[in-house]
Amino acid sequence: MKKILVGGAGGFIGSHLVKRLKEQGFWVRGVDVKRPEFDETCADEFEILDLRRQDDCLKATRDVDTAYCLAANMGGIGWTHAAPAEILHDNLLMSTNTLEACRLSGVENIFYSSSACVYPNYLQETNDSPGLKEDKVFPADPDMEYGWEKLTAEMMHETYRKSYGLNIKVARFHNIYGPLGTYDGGREKSPAALCRKIAKIEGNEGEIEVWGDGTQARSYCYVDDCVEGCIRIMNSDVTIPLNLGSDRMVTINELIAMISDISGKKIHCKYDLTKPVGPKGRNSDNTLIQAKLGWSPNITLEQGMSDTYKWIDAQLKK
Ligand code: NAD
Repeated sequence: MKKILVGGAGGFIGSHLVKRLKEQGFWVRGVDVKRPEFDETCADEFEILDLRRQDDCLKATRDVDTAYCLAANMGGIGWTHAAPAEILHDNLLMSTNTLEACRLSGVENIFYSSSACVYPNYLQETNDSPGLKEDKVFPADPDMEYGWEKLTAEMMHETYRKSYGLNIKVARFHNIYGPLGTYDGGREKSPAALCRKIAKIEGNEGEIEVWGDGTQARSYCYVDDCVEGCIRIMNSDVTIPLNLGSDRMVTINELIAMISDISGKKIHCKYDLTKPVGPKGRNSDNTLIQAKLGWSPNITLEQGMSDTYKWIDAQLKK
């Protein structure tokens, strides 16, 4: 039986991925600095290890043939602005030490979770910017320190593939959302933050604070599609990074209107123009993943946001 390591298994996407791999019958070791926040892990073995440390990375990668490397110090735009040194330091160490440990431990298949933040800011300056194609990362101008680290780590994975012949797969996630994701505390992303703010409104009408003027646009990918894509990419013969995201871009105001419909609450927005909003428009171009895999994320935003809202609403009522 295949033995699989999931790094970052205490996190949002990692915990969903562990569950899916267990459903498919694999033996799974989860590793993280913390256990999953909202649910018990489904992993056969769960070890608290610090993947910034080489010795812990060697423990994590022992006796497995496949590794999904999802651990990162990350959060929404507020966190990315608040902790640039910590993000760059921790993630460079994690990416480097995990990859080297995979090589030393003889891990045959490696999956690295990169991000849409590798794409240049100059391609995302309007909220109708075209979808980002995989080959448009250079000249480099990634989104903040988090994006620079992801781009550097992508290059490092590529060199390990070339120099050591490792079977390495890379996906660029675009705004993944869904149940079991952080929705409070400063690290949450916009879909979860908006669901929380709207769920907290008592009665059927109220006001929420919105970062920026609400015209910034993103595409959002439901976590089940993300997990499906990770496994499909890992099982493919594609050796270049692929976008893993939705190619339907919506503005924050459109997302709020959708959550308003889902919740049945009338929402008034108080726009805070002093808060960071990131690139004006970011969308995934799914031509390449569709051509390579004959598949791309397909769960509708309405369905995904409905499930996410209900889960956050239930969490708040607990
Ligand atoms: P998450 O924060 O929920 O999960 C990351 C996990 O890594 C956390 O559980 C965290 O505790 C763990 N971690 C942090 N430092 C660690 C350390 N030193 N040792 C071991 N574990 C450590 O985030 P997520 O949304 O599940 O993201 C998973 C991966 O996908 C990350 O690499 C992230 O950069 C990437 N990604 C996510 C998104 C998104 O929208 N969620 C978008 C682009 C890329």
